[in-house]
Amino acid sequence: MEARIDRRGAWLVLSGATVLLVVLAAVMVPWSWVGGATLDPPAAGDVFSRDQLEKAESHAAALRALSWTSYLVTLVLSLALGLTRVGSALFRRVTGRLPWWLAVPWVALLLLVLGRLVTLPLSLLARRRNLEDGLTNQGLAGYLTDLALSLLVSWALLSVLLLLFIGVARRSPRWWFAWCAAVLVGFTFFVSLLYPVLVEPLFNDFEQLPDGPFEEAVLALAEEEGVAVREVLVSDASRRTTTLNAYVSGLGGTRRIVLYDNLLADATPEEALSVVAHELAHARHRDVFLGTGLGALGVVVGVAALALLLDSGWVRRRAGVRGAADPAAAAVIAALVSLGGVVSSPAQNAVSRAIEARADVTALEATDDTEAFRSVQLRLAERSLADPTPPLVGYVWFSSHPTVLQRLAIADAVERSGG
Ligand SMILES: [Zn+2]
Repeated sequence: MEARIDRRGAWLVLSGATVLLVVLAAVMVPWSWVGGATLDPPAAGDVFSRDQLEKAESHAAALRALSWTSYLVTLVLSLALGLTRVGSALFRRVTGRLPWWLAVPWVALLLLVLGRLVTLPLSLLARRRNLEDGLTNQGLAGYLTDLALSLLVSWALLSVLLLLFIGVARRSPRWWFAWCAAVLVGFTFFVSLLYPVLVEPLFNDFEQLPDGPFEEAVLALAEEEGVAVREVLVSDASRRTTTLNAYVSGLGGTRRIVLYDNLLADATPEEALSVVAHELAHARHRDVFLGTGLGALGVVVGVAALALLLDSGWVRRRAGVRGAADPAAAAVIAALVSLGGVVSSPAQNAVSRAIEARADVTALEATDDTEAFRSVQLRLAERSLADPTPPLVGYVWFSSHPTVLQRLAIADAVERSGG
């Protein structure tokens, strides 16, 4: 028995969502970083000492080699399992007489554990290098606990995804992609909303920012940027990293600004405020909402593409499955999902960099303190041993933020336009 999808419907969903995504991204994403001003990034040698540059470049090159290899190995492994009969045969062998809805999460776990084990040596080498270069001081037990926790989170997400696709495809073989797309749009918002409450506490403890002059300055800045601050939290990031950072997460009632404890300990108050101003700018521009909305549309595009691929004779023959309703399709679905992540990464990061640049501009205008901005950007880069001039492929595929040199140029541009 072969259940086929309504291909015309899938093409319609795919093209409709793609057009909507492109239009929305074109209109909502602040593509021109500093209002059309051209950026003129300084030379790395002008802002970093030769020592700093050598250290950062050597660290970044080593980490790049490890993380890119790990990225490729993960992708190749999942394609090798998914787009050959190995994945479906593995499924049939290990699941035995389990009902499909138990077999699917079981296989999801096997796939993830296999991927983790294969890349574990690379992760451990990266960890060693981070220890040597002073970027982390986390013990091995803590590190392995983090790995296990993130594996559990990935497992929960992958299982939900696979159960949804396969379960709905069994009920509605022709239109499953449309139902799944609708459910996943809701799920994407749900994850954004609940991530800070459900997942972040697994990895860190959070405390309210203590009362005092710094907290008062943060609240004044929030008022200046027109942001209603519900929560400013401090996370115990120092237990796994020595880098300085902050972020904003959640939607509506779960929205919070989180500062690394390292940032408060090691940066000057002006520098920390510059970072807070950047995070407040994300809140003001509702960047989490924008990112979630674009992400949800991306998911619709992805589900329609997945349905068309799974429906094609070539994929079904290669994978040895009958279609999305066949639980043995778990491996090929997982492979296509991870391929989708790799393919869409440049677009996601291009959107992210534009949003980050806008947050920098807003922060610079709100604080009117380009000096603190410059010094904290240099400090962040120095601490994280970021490569000020990453190779183009790395920048396009993995850089979610403008480089430190670009960020310094953003400060210059804002300063020029401010007179
Ligand atoms: Zn940001």
